[in-house]
Amino acid sequence: MVVQARHMAVTANPFALPPLPYPDSGLEPLISARTLQLHHGAHQKGYVDKVNQLVADTAFAQMSLRQIMLATSAKPDHAALFENAAQAWNHDFYWRSLKPKGGGVPPPALKGQIEASFGSVDALKKSIATEAAGLFGSGWVWLVADGPRLRVLPTHDAGNPLVDRHVPLLVIDVWEHAYYLDVQNRRAEYVHGILENLVNWEFAATNASGAPATGLA
Ligand code: FE
Repeated sequence: MVVQARHMAVTANPFALPPLPYPDSGLEPLISARTLQLHHGAHQKGYVDKVNQLVADTAFAQMSLRQIMLATSAKPDHAALFENAAQAWNHDFYWRSLKPKGGGVPPPALKGQIEASFGSVDALKKSIATEAAGLFGSGWVWLVADGPRLRVLPTHDAGNPLVDRHVPLLVIDVWEHAYYLDVQNRRAEYVHGILENLVNWEFAATNASGAPATGLA
């Protein structure tokens, strides 16, 4: 019993809220410092805290967030753990999908993949905007690699394409908490602003190359 208690103490609260990769004001004017403070410090923190609560004294405490997602996906008994672990992972991926002074032209290899799959970078942007506009309620719009082909996929609520064996390259959070303080209900304006000024094509290119994205559990 003593050994077990010590073991459990070591694994208490195994997940920490990762810091943002830029200052709170780094995505202004489209995404305000106030939105980032709440989105990161309250919403994402809430998911991380909940995961820590749910994994306490279980084998899940030894896993990464990615391993928890894959182990709990489509398991009704573990729905709350899946949702909170996926939301914690998705937000970390979202912060890295954006950067101050982003946008512009994707690196050459990724641009070639985009053109092969969508025809042009503009056609990809249009597809992302269309999926974001059409997603009812809360969710995410992803650029993923499905084998050699790139695809735009929406997921609802906490959904994550890793569970369908797709490789995520980029994501845009389209839950209202991501944009409501700044542009109220104008989701299209938020998505357009990201694609033109904040999207981190280098992060997508790293993910497309198969190299592990730093910082993601
Ligand atoms: Fe969010």
